[in-house]
Amino acid sequence: MRKYIIMGVQGCGKGTQAKMLKDAYDLVHISVGDIFRWNIQAHTKLAARIKRIMAAGELVGDEVVEEIVRRRLDEHDWNYGFILDGFPRNRRQAEFFLESYDIDAVIQIDVPDRVVMDRIQARRLCEKCGLDYNLMFHRPANAGTCDVCGGKLIQRSDDNESAITSRLKDYHEKTAPILELFKKKELVVVTDGTKKPDEIQADIRRQLRLT
Ligand code: AMP
Repeated sequence: MRKYIIMGVQGCGKGTQAKMLKDAYDLVHISVGDIFRWNIQAHTKLAARIKRIMAAGELVGDEVVEEIVRRRLDEHDWNYGFILDGFPRNRRQAEFFLESYDIDAVIQIDVPDRVVMDRIQARRLCEKCGLDYNLMFHRPANAGTCDVCGGKLIQRSDDNESAITSRLKDYHEKTAPILELFKKKELVVVTDGTKKPDEIQADIRRQLRLT
């Protein structure tokens, strides 16, 4: 059983690295942001409460987030373990989590703010199948169209300059300090997120002693 948390500023490549680990080690990838986006697309009751907050790049209330994470982990479909992406984002969420669960490692992906700002503004998403693109390194063959399903490529509503600035500020003020909490428990592995995705993955596996 492997239980990991993956952390880093938005656009650092957490989602990509989490998916690579998930596929290789049969882990369940739990992204709170993806769960929220699914709710918004499905127009659930929760969507009405979180849509505006997310579009502004602000953090959703802790009670809502904790409930979502608790319910997701209570499904117990993670026989080989899980990788949490986008949670915890502040001290309260970290303490809530550590009260009920233990963790094997926290993977911190390190990328300077100016690099992620450019990356995020180039990020696109297929509105039909959800596949990720980036106009800097993973362009579609036909501009604006998904290579796989032909769906329209859109920008996430929170991938604009003011929302990104707000998310970076929250990360440095609220999320980065909780790394200290995990560092005290000697759980944190740090990797350089400016390298190529395969190299980052290899470095993570080496540091986690995964083969
Ligand atoms: P992400 O996909 O991780 O960038 O998350 C997208 C948005 O979902 C964030 O900007 C927040 O509005 C919300 N969100 C995701 N995870 C959390 C969390 N742990 N705490 C509060 N809000 C969150």
